[in-house]
Amino acid sequence: MGEPRQDAVELFVYKKKDVSIVCPQCGLAKNVPLEPLRVKGHWEVKAKCTRCAHVFRVRLNFRKFFRKPVRLEAQLADGAGESLGRAAVVDLSLEGIGFDVQEAVRPLAIGDMVHVSFPAVDGGRIQKAATIVSLRGKRLGAKFVDGAFDPAIYAWIVK
Ligand SMILES: [Zn+2]
Repeated sequence: MGEPRQDAVELFVYKKKDVSIVCPQCGLAKNVPLEPLRVKGHWEVKAKCTRCAHVFRVRLNFRKFFRKPVRLEAQLADGAGESLGRAAVVDLSLEGIGFDVQEAVRPLAIGDMVHVSFPAVDGGRIQKAATIVSLRGKRLGAKFVDGAFDPAIYAWIVK
């Protein structure tokens, strides 16, 4: 395709209400509110400089690997929806989840897929499928199967 090569600007936006986007060509800085981007879950947006008309990409880094400590009651289920027991979510990131198993129906192993259900910031429920990647006693680490930006998880991270 005839897409012109563009500069890409990476911005770290964890816990910010707006971001300052700097044109890589002329240096013009502009503050842009983050909320509309966050709701849409965009990782990358196109920007056009209001001074020099340069078009460039802005990559929004929502601190994928930042882990927010939390304490949330959770239900675990397997892929078929059978209960695997109760757990407490102890940390959350956009990439995955850490939890302590409280009552396990059967032992879980690395590579197992679990469905974790826990409260959302707005009072609803969050349901995530995750693959277990680490085991340390009762503490399990799991990576979300769906790697897409999830506003419900982000809401916990910035809370
Ligand atoms: Zn410019």
